[in-house]
Amino acid sequence: EPLDELIAGLSVDVPDFPNPGVLFRDLTPVFADGPAFRRVVEGLAAPALEDPRAAAVAHADDGVPGDPGFDVVVGVEARGFLLAAAVALRAGVGVVPVRKAGKLPRECVRADYALEYGTATVEMHTDSLRRGQRVLLVDDVLATGGTLAASVALVEELGGVVTAVSVVVELTALEGRERLVPHAVHALWTA
Ligand code: 5GP
Repeated sequence: EPLDELIAGLSVDVPDFPNPGVLFRDLTPVFADGPAFRRVVEGLAAPALEDPRAAAVAHADDGVPGDPGFDVVVGVEARGFLLAAAVALRAGVGVVPVRKAGKLPRECVRADYALEYGTATVEMHTDSLRRGQRVLLVDDVLATGGTLAASVALVEELGGVVTAVSVVVELTALEGRERLVPHAVHALWTA
């Protein structure tokens, strides 16, 4: 079964959540299904290998068999954590969190972004990436792109190089992809 059909079949559309008029794509049944979760995790990791910018970044491990094309996985709170840790474990690299403001205990960099009503802030520990580290950025859903654009800004402020942005679902009508240019978005399913 193609992965996009598997995800589409297991996800549940929830009308009017969290607000009236919003159709929420609930992916928790996808994550709860062992074979589907495994394929999702593998799919999220795969694009970095094929992204030419991943190969363009000088790195000690270039060309070594088993190099996944990234040095660390950055996951976005909260559903991105479920995915990022699994991708990192599978690739043999570490995982770093992007968190909502006020959750991380030490010195942080922060980025504000607009919500439909008001603003939100995401943070990363200032010492959580090394300069030139190749980053695979992972979240569950690309909607307006605000969250991932702010996350890209944090990664780049810390000197990280975003080699790919991977999501399970891209809600194409919201055009979030445009906010992540020039970074390629790899979506396992477009809805
Ligand atoms: P954005 O900043 O792209 O508008 O929103 C993305 C964030 O909101 C993601 O972290 C994602 O978890 C959450 N989100 C927005 N819409 C949906 C949805 O339909 N389903 C799920 N599961 N999450 C959503």
